[in-house]
This record gives sequence, C-alpha cells and structure tokens, in this order.
Amino acid sequence: MNENNNNNAKKTRRSNSGSTAAPKKRVYRKNTAPKEAAASVNKQAAAPSAKQAAPAKEKKARQTKEVRKTPVRIIPLGGLNEIGKNMTVFECSNDMFILDCGLAFPDADMPGVDIVIPDFTYVERNADKVRGIVITHGHEDHIGGLAYLLKKVNVPVYATRLTIGLIEAKLKEQGLYGKVHLNVIAPKKTVKMGCMAVEFIKVNHSIPDSVGMAIHTPAGVIVHTGDFKVDYSPIDGEIIDIARFGELGSKGVLALMADSTNAERPGYTHSERTVGESFDRLFKKGEGKRIIIATFSSNIHRVQQIINCAVRYGRKVAVFGRSMVNVINTAIELGYLDVPEGIIIDIEMMNRYESERIVLITTGSQGEPMSALTRMAMNDHKKVNITPMDFIIISATPIPGNEKFVTRVVNELMKSGAEVVYEAMYEVHVSGHACQEELKLMQALTRPKFFIPVHGEYKHLKKHADLALQMGMDKENVIIAEIGNVIETDGVSMKVVSQVPSGRVLVDGLGVGDVGSIVLRDRKHLAQDGLIIIVIGIEKSTNEVVAGPDIISRGFVYVRESDELISQARTLLANTLAGCSYAELREWNSLKGKMRDALSDYIYEKTKRSPMILPIIMET
Ligand SMILES: [Zn+2]
Ligand SMILES: [Zn+2]
Repeated sequence: MNENNNNNAKKTRRSNSGSTAAPKKRVYRKNTAPKEAAASVNKQAAAPSAKQAAPAKEKKARQTKEVRKTPVRIIPLGGLNEIGKNMTVFECSNDMFILDCGLAFPDADMPGVDIVIPDFTYVERNADKVRGIVITHGHEDHIGGLAYLLKKVNVPVYATRLTIGLIEAKLKEQGLYGKVHLNVIAPKKTVKMGCMAVEFIKVNHSIPDSVGMAIHTPAGVIVHTGDFKVDYSPIDGEIIDIARFGELGSKGVLALMADSTNAERPGYTHSERTVGESFDRLFKKGEGKRIIIATFSSNIHRVQQIINCAVRYGRKVAVFGRSMVNVINTAIELGYLDVPEGIIIDIEMMNRYESERIVLITTGSQGEPMSALTRMAMNDHKKVNITPMDFIIISATPIPGNEKFVTRVVNELMKSGAEVVYEAMYEVHVSGHACQEELKLMQALTRPKFFIPVHGEYKHLKKHADLALQMGMDKENVIIAEIGNVIETDGVSMKVVSQVPSGRVLVDGLGVGDVGSIVLRDRKHLAQDGLIIIVIGIEKSTNEVVAGPDIISRGFVYVRESDELISQARTLLANTLAGCSYAELREWNSLKGKMRDALSDYIYEKTKRSPMILPIIMET
C-alpha cells in the first residue's frame, strides 16, 4: 500500500509540473484545488518506515551506476531556524564563495544591542580561498552584515544594479566606499568562482532586481531561489524567469535551496499590483483629507504605486524618514522609480499646499519607536500634527514580535481622530514571499534530487520539507539543516558531515562581538532589578573605616521615598563592618563579598527584589 502511495505521489508531482508550468494567466488566484490534494498526500508521506522498503532496491541499483564527483560543501552560517542574517558558504576543492551576508534585529533578550550579524570565523580562517560574494537582493537580512564581513575579508561583490546601489550607500556609511570591488551582474549572466560558477536568475520579490541563483559545480547544479514569489503582473513587468528554472530542472538539478518564509500559508501570494488597486480605492475614499502612507522603505514598487496614485489624484508627495529618503534617492538615480517632475516636494515646502493636495510617504510601518510615523502618532513630530483631517494607511504586516508596537501606533493615531486603514481591513499589503502553491511550482520546475529548505524558523523549514515530501521526494533526500552544518554532496549522496563555528555576533555602537553572554546577563539584571552601590572609605595605615557606608541606587527604589529602608541598610552594613576583624578589613575581596551578601539578604527579605550590588572601597 505504501509503495503505491509513494508512486501516486510521484505521479502527482509529474502532472503538477506539466500543468503549473503552462502559463495560467491570472486565474490562479481562485485555484485552490491543489491544496486539498496536497493535504491528502501528506498523510501518506507521514508513514515513511515501510514505504521505503521497495524503492530501496531500485535506488541501490541506480546508485551503483552513478559516479561520485568532486564533493561540494554547503555551509549555512545564518538564516536557518531564524528569520534574518542570511549567509551561506559554498566550497569546492580550493575555492569558496559566499551567498548573501545579512543582519538580524536583536530579540528582547539582547538589551542595548543594535544589530546581530553571523559569526565569520570560518570564512576568516579560509580567507585565501574566498573568490567573492554574491548577493541575491538588497534587503537588510541579505546585505546588512556585508560591511562587517568586508572589513575582515575584502573580496569582490557581485549583485544586480539596484542591489549594488543599496550596498554602495551602506559602504559609504561604514567608510568602505571605494575600497571594495563592486560588480553589477545582470540576470542570465554568470560569474566564475574558481571551479564553480554562479548564474543569476530573475525572481519576483518585494524589492526590485531580486535574483535566485544556479550554482554550477563539479558535483552538479545547486539552485538557490533567494527570497522569491511568483508575480505574473509585477510593477516593472519583469516576471520571474520560470523558463530558466524549468530548463535547469530538465537538465538535472542536484539540489534546491528555497525560501521557506511563507511555507505555512496555502495558496498563492497576490500580485503587488493588487495593492495599487487598493490604493486607488483608498485615494478616492480619502478625498478632502491629507493622506499618510507608511510602508517599508525598500519596497520601491509600492512607492511607485503611491506616486502613480498621487499623479492621478493631483497630489504632491513628501517623503519622511531617513531610510525612506535614502532608498528613494538611490532608486530615482538608478532609474527604478519613475517620478514625474515636481511631484516630490521638500518637506519644508509642504505648507505651501493645501493638506488635501498632499501624500506623505513615511517609515514606521512596524511601529518602530524612533520612526517618523511613531513620532507623528505620539505628537512628537516637528513638521506633522495628526488631526481628524488625516487619512492614514499602514501598508505592511507587522513582523512577528512587532504587533504590539504597531497596535500602539494605530491606537494613538486614532485618538487624534485620524482614520487609519491597516491590512486587517483592506488589501494594502501583499507578501514578498512565495506561498505553498508557488513553492510547489518551484519544486516541480527544478525537480531537484536533494532539497534544503532555507530562510525560516524551524516550523517554516519543516512545513517546507513536508511540501517536498508530498510531491514525492524521498525523506532521506531532504535535509533540515542548522547553521554551522557542513552539508556535503558528491552528486550521489548528500549529508551533514561536520560542523564549523557559527552563531550570532552582537553589534553595539562601534563594538562588534564585545557584547557577550556575561554583558547581556548584567544588562538584563540591571534592567529587571536595578543597581545598588555601597561606598566605604578605609584608612590605609590603620585599616579603619573612615567614611560610609553610603548607599547609592539606580532603578531600584526611589530613595527619597524609601528613607527607612536605606537607613536600615546603612546600619546593617555598619554593623557588618564593625564585626570585621583587622585581618578581614585588609582582604578587600572577601570584605566586598561580606557586604554584598549581608545587603542582598536584607533587601530580598524586605522587598523580594534582587538588585545588582556593587561595593566600592576607597583608600584614604
Ligand atoms: Zn527579502
Ligand atoms: Zn530575506
């Protein structure tokens, strides 16, 4: 029974590839049938043990015919079991290259940390082998760590034109401009990386000029999708190069690495164009009011659609937020934004126009505390006051973890009487990542022998792996990897063979990697319970306590309202010191320990809190 099921699954997969590859125009949105089919196959795939018995023989026969080739190693250093800091090393013989080098934003358990980047130890150790860095697109989770890597290993960078433009802006900030070889590569072009070669393949995503990559290696072709979706009506008219993925598939793809972000979502991701249609309706609805739209600065196609609506409805556009201004300038300079003369106005000029003739484009769609939209919401913006005459559109979905920030901003905007539209009510945002049907299409096109889901937390990777199994892939050919794994393939088999150093490096201000677990522990302790400093002065010659004990506290209790607690604590410490012998007063470390223990017990008993206690002894 199991064997039959397995065959069925394989048949399903073949017929899928036939039908989905054909141009379907835009009917696809209503087509939900494959979802049910997939669900039923899933149950079969869930019983793997018996099903492998029969095909195993066949596989063995196949394997003996296959020739083992020069092995290629794939080493993910970020982007697995996490969303962010994507980075993968490809290695063959004496050559190595890096695909993407992103950053992640700190979690709540990393107070004070600005950004998180991958651990570059392995790359640094092999610096002489690194032939270059290829970048799939210009999002922070793919380029944000690049400047830090280039400071350690300066090798040429290859990317499409807009991506290079965005990287250039970043390198300028880091003082690296002019010190790095940046190379613009168009889709369909190939870059040599020693014994390997990387071909750029056009994909759709929420930033223009995104590519996936076909990595031609001695062991076979490895396809990496980058971040992708399938948009049959993209704003720039450039549809994902489905034909090339299919061509590679028919010639034989050794392994597929594909974007798992939306692997939990059934169906298809809608076209970016649907957002434009919503904007059009909302511009009509907002007539007579000032319109404010918050979105991701990198979503240039979204900005283009806002500008198009502004032109249609006779409004001027003012741009708020540093990253928004930077990206829009780069995009205009490189020809990725088509803005008619005089449409974008300086924010200083806003007052010359009636507010119903204005659209503001701003950062802050995630409710980031320092962003322009948040400051507007909190009545803290110098140029913009929110009133009932504002019509506000938040054109983004909160990234998990940001929901409460966004909610707070929406609440505050509404309190000022503004009308606020966000995704829950209207289609003002679509994702940049492929949903299940698009992921299946990619499987069907490339027909890989091995599959490694990437770009996602564990649950996303697992769901994506399940999809591949549903489509008939053998369980042992799917690897859910972890960062630092060395995945080796010789064209016949693929497995995790070893481990290299990997993890997260925290960047705080100018310090890279100097904030470790002990510093974080202290920061959390200080944040949770505050700090008490005990100061005493000891006369060196006599070993007598001549000053103090004094108590200073921060973030613990408001001292003026806790006179009694503090004075009792002082008495307690004085008694502790009085009980110390001459010898004990000379051993400052143990003296500090004694004071810390005494005070900590007392404070806990009185307040049930455990502040950090820092004794300081001054010699007089
Ligand atoms: Zn992306
Ligand atoms: Zn990404």
